[in-house]
Amino acid sequence: MKIHLQVLNKLWFVLILIVAGGCSTVPLTGRRQLSLVPESEVISLSLTEYDKFIKSNKLSTDKNKIALVKHVGERISKAVEAYMAGAGLSQNLDGYKWEFNLVEDQTVNAWCMSGGKVVVYTGLLPLTLTESGLATVLGHEISHAVARHGSERMSDQMLIQFGSTALSTALDQKPAATKNIVMTAFGIGSQVGLILPFSRENEYEADYMGLIFMAMAGYDPNESIPFWERMSRQGGQKPPEFLSTHPVDANRISRLKEKMPDALAYYKKTKK
Ligand SMILES: [Zn+2]
Repeated sequence: MKIHLQVLNKLWFVLILIVAGGCSTVPLTGRRQLSLVPESEVISLSLTEYDKFIKSNKLSTDKNKIALVKHVGERISKAVEAYMAGAGLSQNLDGYKWEFNLVEDQTVNAWCMSGGKVVVYTGLLPLTLTESGLATVLGHEISHAVARHGSERMSDQMLIQFGSTALSTALDQKPAATKNIVMTAFGIGSQVGLILPFSRENEYEADYMGLIFMAMAGYDPNESIPFWERMSRQGGQKPPEFLSTHPVDANRISRLKEKMPDALAYYKKTKK
């Protein structure tokens, strides 16, 4: 009976939020999504965890590699901003202040938190290999943030862990659990010993959006295929963290190829 009451509580919580307007639309794809946690709150939580991360990790001192990460990141983020402005969605990027960091760490990973805070690990660079390879990853990660997938995951996790407790109450009462939710929501698993993949739907959506944004930024979207193929060969006993959160199956690559004509149309426009 107690379990039933908890489930009912959660259902009521979701219903109230839906009625209260807890819904938003993903740019480019137009998908409607449930967002129980306000984006401004997600950005504020992200900034707190991001600052702690930057203070407790070693930033790379390799000038060339740092310049590469910033250069690619800036090109992609400018393309995102231009698209959002053209679509009348600039307000979706309220609170965004882009930052691109290279962290000295052999983990194969990269992420972008809400608010535009991007981290690439040096361990990823041998796999991205080229500037377009890195554009593939950054386009994909930035898309997770712009599509508010972190908020979606946080909404799910909040429901699982706290039921109908409001986020602010959860923060006061269970700061450690809340921190874990924020970190896992953005694929920063190893920091909290928890690796949680994005849902397949979110992955495909970030692939599609990332492909379009890299093309809008003037990178050949065809270059994303060899990157994902390199990734798919990295399996084995202990797959890299990026692969744990981004499993590369045959579907992933074939779906990317399906979307290629759309992306190439945007790419060609940048070359005129
Ligand atoms: Zn992803």
